Amino acid sequence: MSAPEKQGIATRGFATQNKEAKFGPFEFVRREVGPNDILIDIAYCGICHTDIHQSKAEWEPMIPSIYPMVPGHEIVGRVSQVGNEVTKFKVGDFAGIGCFIDSCGECAPCKAGIEQYCVKGCAMSYNGTEMDRETLTYGGYSKHYVIGEHYALKVSAGSELSGIAPLLCAGITTYSPLKKWGAGPGKKVAVAGLGGLGHMGVKIAAAMGAEVTVLSTSPSKEKDAKALSAHKFLNTKDAESAKAAAGTFDLILDTISAQHDYNFYLSLLGLEGVMVVVGVPTDPVPVNAFSLVVGNKAIAGSMIGGIAETQEMLDFCAENAITADIELIRIQQINEAYERLIKGDVKYRFVIDMASLK
Ligand code: NAP
Ligand code: ZN
Repeated sequence: MSAPEKQGIATRGFATQNKEAKFGPFEFVRREVGPNDILIDIAYCGICHTDIHQSKAEWEPMIPSIYPMVPGHEIVGRVSQVGNEVTKFKVGDFAGIGCFIDSCGECAPCKAGIEQYCVKGCAMSYNGTEMDRETLTYGGYSKHYVIGEHYALKVSAGSELSGIAPLLCAGITTYSPLKKWGAGPGKKVAVAGLGGLGHMGVKIAAAMGAEVTVLSTSPSKEKDAKALSAHKFLNTKDAESAKAAAGTFDLILDTISAQHDYNFYLSLLGLEGVMVVVGVPTDPVPVNAFSLVVGNKAIAGSMIGGIAETQEMLDFCAENAITADIELIRIQQINEAYERLIKGDVKYRFVIDMASLK
């Protein structure tokens, strides 16, 4: 007897079959649209460095990589079907999906609207499972997504949709800690790493009213940093400039994807300064106790943001005319885009035009 055909919506995307493989076409099935679900026809999906970490199994053993893997958690598109109990969306609306698609809804973090910290573990948009812990999730490098309406975001059609896609991860991951740690008028905020997250952090922190400095290893990005609305630029490889900046920042938002010395960045904080880590290098990084105790400094972490705050961020970006600076690619260019992203050769986010996936 053959296995029963899986019921659902046939769709297709691009997947990788193991940590060394190239991406290629992949067909799979999304679940049927339930009473509280919406079906989104994906228009654009951003490429986050997390997609690289996970597709190349760089975060194992902390986060196992599951194959075939269809990454993508910066998703925007149009609603093409709604379940009969859906109230938040109607067919034709624009909608977004970020890093998670479900959570238990009952624990304290879920009730507090910080579903990303669900005690049972939220269902990640890809490289995870639905809350049943069996059904694998596939991400946004694909044509369609089925999601419960609560976990989808409302996207205003006013701005260029492709530039909104990266807000669903890079936007909220920088907005949430900037807000929590008080970025605003009178605050000196440094953004470490001018990549996908970093360039959003600069725009958002500046819109919040902070004085923004970019801490970068790439002197060639100085002009861009200023155009993105940074007030100052510090080449962290230049020892003299780094020495002059010691002890000057209230807040550092660390978006760096690779190994780097936390102690150096902590030295740039002033009294009671805070460094929030959002970038996730592969290996642990040693922190010298002196880097914290001298100056009463703190190091903190932050992971994306809850659904309500993600909506707040989207509305904030719409009001302040903030979108990502992107390079639009066809899905057939994905392997090349990964190579370029690893080399830091992107200004400042690759976004896949899903119309290229026939
Ligand atoms: P990205 O576009 O590749 O940007 C990373 C930036 O880090 C680079 O542009 C570069 O900036 C800097 N950098 C790279 N190697 C470096 C090194 N050896 N030393 C110092 N700086 C270096 O990556 P992304 O998409 O912004 O993601 C950044 C990190 O955040 C990744 O680790 C990702 O997994 C993580 N992330 C975390 C969350 C969360 O919820 N916490 C969410 C999304 C992503 P310069 O050229 O300016 O130096
Ligand atoms: Zn991401």
